[in-house]
Amino acid sequence: MALVMQTDAPFWNSLVFDGIAEVDVEAVTAAFGTIEVVARGHAGGASCPDCGRFSGRVHDRYQRRLRDLPLADQSFVIRLTVRRFICESTDCPRRTFAEPFSRLAAPHARFTTRLSTAPWNGWGLPWLGGPVLGWRPSWDSARDG
Ligand SMILES: [Zn+2]
Repeated sequence: MALVMQTDAPFWNSLVFDGIAEVDVEAVTAAFGTIEVVARGHAGGASCPDCGRFSGRVHDRYQRRLRDLPLADQSFVIRLTVRRFICESTDCPRRTFAEPFSRLAAPHARFTTRLSTAPWNGWGLPWLGGPVLGWRPSWDSARDG
């Protein structure tokens, strides 16, 4: 099956992250049966999980790879750039903390929240507009990574 790539970032933003306002799509690539979406958070900062103080000082960045719901016959992977912020409270035991993506995935999870909780019957796929793209559940291929 030939897949025509739609490279328009706002399109992918609404397709993949509909209702998840915390991320922006930067790039989309398709190769070897896998669609990869490169995304990053766009919040100005985050609150320290220990002391609650808000910080926008970026310490460094790293990448998380999240497997998402399969799209047609393609695997679907999100490469998420996660920022690590510096907690500036002098009395806080924590020096740095990772940007949270509470709507998208649990901390350290390798799957998006909707993949791990998707009810395969009646999921409805509002972000794909239904079965138009020939989507079907392929739970096995979604789990083997
Ligand atoms: Zn803190």
